[in-house]
Amino acid sequence: MEGPALIAGGGIAGLTLALALARRGRPSRLFERAPALEATGAGVQLSPNAGRILEALGLGPALDAIATRPEAVSIVDAPSGRRLKRITFGALAERRWGAPYRVLHRADLQAALLEAIAAAGAVEITLGAELRDMRETADGVAIDIAHATGGGETVEGGWLAGADGLRSVVRRAVKLPTSVGGSALKAWRAVLPASALPTAFDMAEVTLWLGPGAHLVVYPVRKGREANVVVIGDDRAAGPAELAASWAAPARELIAAGPAWTPWPLHDRPPDARMHRGRIALVGDASHAALPALAQGAGFAIEDAAVLARLVASDIADPFAAYQSARLMRVARMQTQARKQMRIDHLSGLAAMARNAALAAAPEAALRRGLDWIYGWRDQG
Ligand SMILES: Cc1cc2nc3c(=O)[nH]c(=O)nc-3n(C[C@H](O)[C@H](O)[C@H](O)COP(=O)(O)OP(=O)(O)OC[C@H]3O[C@@H](n4cnc5c(N)ncnc54)[C@H](O)[C@@H]3O)c2cc1C
Repeated sequence: MEGPALIAGGGIAGLTLALALARRGRPSRLFERAPALEATGAGVQLSPNAGRILEALGLGPALDAIATRPEAVSIVDAPSGRRLKRITFGALAERRWGAPYRVLHRADLQAALLEAIAAAGAVEITLGAELRDMRETADGVAIDIAHATGGGETVEGGWLAGADGLRSVVRRAVKLPTSVGGSALKAWRAVLPASALPTAFDMAEVTLWLGPGAHLVVYPVRKGREANVVVIGDDRAAGPAELAASWAAPARELIAAGPAWTPWPLHDRPPDARMHRGRIALVGDASHAALPALAQGAGFAIEDAAVLARLVASDIADPFAAYQSARLMRVARMQTQARKQMRIDHLSGLAAMARNAALAAAPEAALRRGLDWIYGWRDQG
């Protein structure tokens, strides 16, 4: 393909794609609207399907330096504080799925990707550069960029990847709706010193509290020095304290410890019919925005990037059609399952009792097996 890849967006999707292309000797130019790649976000769970790809891109040692490998996921009934299940991960996850389950801070992951990109070369990053419009040309693509410092330019390249997130403008060129649906849910996110956590929360684990209409997730970041806390529930609530008012003491104590919450309205989309049009392809949230109930948004962005880079670097006639064939059903399943999981997590009354009983009775191995389709995925190439 003539000309460099053009990438709109420097989130996890865009950065991983740039690195994956560079590793295959393909140059790219990445345009990021923000004037700086700031250390934003909170924690991110990096499951084996994504970790395996980052390891293959050479990030294994960097991940070991910044991430924790939780020993287990504990699921707790929020009103009673009773633990329903402890699913062992740790070395078992690595054996079963071929890579560790990791938890880390998104900013640390972004920094590791940037460092690897700088070392690899072949990627030109322009900040404060907003993609406004795009079109296919006779032998590639052209994009219109508006610079934050004023002025604009038209840039030509071989193809375009829209890694521009939930409110992607590249979706226009792929003839997909750009509107996002409200989920009526909001996430309140905070990162706090590990020492501020009530002792009920084990920093060697991912802890999930399930309450009626809301849930809480706690896990270590920054190698256990800090805890990532997320409460997700009705977006009309005043805050986590209201959502957890009837929960057992440890959750209320954690919330009362008063971390600085960042509210985060949640949106998703139903699955789309395509992921590309001609030489313009979508990766990450731009393609498959999902509710975070499976913790796979970044993971699937990383998968997209690996598959797309491999296909573009191959000699096949239409790598973008092949990319879509490889990814479409999987990303649709993730979006659909994420909605379903969110409903299950937020059940109340008798339905919640039935869920809890089923969880408590389920053999741990069966619960791990249920995750195989996500964590055990491998690129077929
Ligand atoms: C509460 C919560 C918890 C989550 N937890 C997890 C988890 O544990 N594990 C997991 O895998 N995922 C998780 N996710 C999802 C994950 O954070 C996202 O799916 C992922 O970060 C999306 O990455 P992206 O690169 O596709 O998009 P983004 O991170 O949104 O990046 C898009 C980039 O494009 C830029 N941009 C936008 N428009 C333009 C333009 N026109 N021109 C140039 N640049 C542009 C933006 O500035 C941005 O930098 C969670 C999400 C939430 C809300």
